[in-house]
Amino acid sequence: MSESSEVLFIEGGRVIDPASGVDGVRTVVLRGGQVAEVAERVERPRDARVIDARGRWVTPGFIDAHVHLREPGQEYKETVETGARAAVAGGFTAVLAMPNTVPPNDSVAVTELVLARAAQAGLARVYPVGCISKGQKGEELAEMGELFQAGCVAFSDDGRPVSSSGLMRRALEYARTFGAPLAVHEEDLALVGKGVMNEGPAATRLGLKGNPAQAEEVMVSRDVALVELTGGRLHVCHLSTAGAVRAVRDAKARGLAVTAEVAPHHLALTDEDVAASGYDTDFKMAPPLRSDADRAAVRAALADGTIDCIATDHAPHSAVEKAVEFDVALNGILGLETAFSVCLALVREGALGERRLVEALTAAPARIFGLPGGSLAAGSPADVAILDPGAEWRCDPERLHSKSRNTPWKGKTMIGRCTHTLVGGNLVYELARGER
Ligand SMILES: [Zn+2]
Ligand SMILES: [Zn+2]
Repeated sequence: MSESSEVLFIEGGRVIDPASGVDGVRTVVLRGGQVAEVAERVERPRDARVIDARGRWVTPGFIDAHVHLREPGQEYKETVETGARAAVAGGFTAVLAMPNTVPPNDSVAVTELVLARAAQAGLARVYPVGCISKGQKGEELAEMGELFQAGCVAFSDDGRPVSSSGLMRRALEYARTFGAPLAVHEEDLALVGKGVMNEGPAATRLGLKGNPAQAEEVMVSRDVALVELTGGRLHVCHLSTAGAVRAVRDAKARGLAVTAEVAPHHLALTDEDVAASGYDTDFKMAPPLRSDADRAAVRAALADGTIDCIATDHAPHSAVEKAVEFDVALNGILGLETAFSVCLALVREGALGERRLVEALTAAPARIFGLPGGSLAAGSPADVAILDPGAEWRCDPERLHSKSRNTPWKGKTMIGRCTHTLVGGNLVYELARGER
């Protein structure tokens, strides 16, 4: 990422930076690609550039620990560039790129390709995630050491779980030698069976096969036990159930190296929304939208820190892959451009504090994955999001920056929007004036 040499003043905004404990109107000074200063009063040189942030929030750039960029191999859904463009439009200055591409990222060649594409795009920072198993087949460990050397910051077979307990044990032991977390999609496929939505009254009413919450809970419980056995680090992807919350809470209480993320859709929606949508396949993802009780549990767990961070599980799919019956539609929805407004609704409902929301999008993922950023302390990368918490906008899929359109928020009025995004001090996104 080239660093801007200009001096930039972001003035008049409410700086919310949980990492350094700042919440108040401040001026943020960026210089040489870094945060130079955050202060109430700063003398501004005549030639400095200024962004007027009055009425807005100024936060560290968001970090999304779970994004599917689809390159290489499925560029018709998304590319590193279009995904990075969607990221910065949503206030995200860094994303972790999941390895279930075609071919999967189980080789240094794929890791280097993703990094090269991200550098060419010059938008968000992209951190590749390497495979746990070769070809994500769940049989043999990938060359995790080489992938780590090449720039992978974590390992995952996401898209599918690591079904073999033996392989998961060895993966935790191997990754422990270089301190990287395993980011794991927790579903017991034998319990999932042919389930396409949460098992419960809504599925029964709709006549759709159910995927029980326990499919997630048993795998999280297994992996907590394996962390205890190995001393490895587990990061639970897209946690969606009350049972998994209990398992993570218990693991943390016992001092185990277990962290977790939750996706905006699991915070916002339930299986009743699948019913209300009339089987809309943009409400289909894995894990599925859960019950109201599960949603309440993940909200409370995010608020109290049991769930560490918010990650979108941005999963672009083409229209033809979604314009089919619910049973056969691919899993996954877009997340990058709607995450802030979807999560801000929780703040308005009183389910989440503003500072905790920002922390879960910034400092928490930086800490888990050992990334620069997530803070506006002097010397941090000049990665900044400027957000208008009151901006109303209509989610028009045609106007999203992602290559795909699969969002359950299509046509909905959203509140809260990113207006500017800076990466390394460069203004990589600015909302058009007509849209503000
Ligand atoms: Zn997953
Ligand atoms: Zn995923």
